[in-house]
Amino acid sequence: MKTIGLLGGMSWESTTRYYQLINTFVKQELGGLHSAKVCLYSVDFHEVEQLQHQGQWQVLGDRLAQGARRVEAGGADFLLICTNTMHKVVDQIERAISIPVLHIADATARELVKQDVVCVGLLGTRFTMEQDFYKERLRQQFGIEVVVPGTEDRQWVHDTIYQELCQGIIEPSARQKMLQVVERLQSAGAQAVILGCTELALLIQQQHTEATLLDTVEIHARDAVANALAEI
Ligand code: GLU
Repeated sequence: MKTIGLLGGMSWESTTRYYQLINTFVKQELGGLHSAKVCLYSVDFHEVEQLQHQGQWQVLGDRLAQGARRVEAGGADFLLICTNTMHKVVDQIERAISIPVLHIADATARELVKQDVVCVGLLGTRFTMEQDFYKERLRQQFGIEVVVPGTEDRQWVHDTIYQELCQGIIEPSARQKMLQVVERLQSAGAQAVILGCTELALLIQQQHTEATLLDTVEIHARDAVANALAEI
């Protein structure tokens, strides 16, 4: 079994779910007392959030590259960056290490391709919904069209992520509102909706809606376990 590297803490509310799912999937595959070999480096999210909102992406890239080097030094065979947003600096991180990064958008896109989805809705931080690093990857590398919510919805989703979900606050009223945003994405042509922020599945899950939801944490964790247990 390979050792799974996790660059986490963005936020820790979702990193705990990565750890749980990865171990659950290894147990499902191997049974008994088997558990995953994991090397985690977890950041102080306060610092990350401040730098994000100041637009200091170069500094963030350097900090995360430093964290990734620690994960590699700890013996990881490959790396998961446990946030969609911070894949904005994936190139900087990749350049700093010699182990491969399993990209969260690629794992999600492969799942969409399997499900024959050609137009998908994307929920996440404003960085993820508005900038190109995530949407263009889906379009260019997988031929998947991406629709995002309107301006007001994007701001509300963004604020809810930072002010509630990343702080462990899960409100039924926010769930109802998020499900309405999902419905609006469907009306705009989305055949499925990516929960493109690792905390979103803490708020809405498949049981709450008829719309097909793609839980990026679960997909990323499954991909990691498949990779850890593969022969080569
Ligand atoms: N975890 C979130 C994501 O998947 C947002 C937190 C962050 O900005 O990293 O995008």
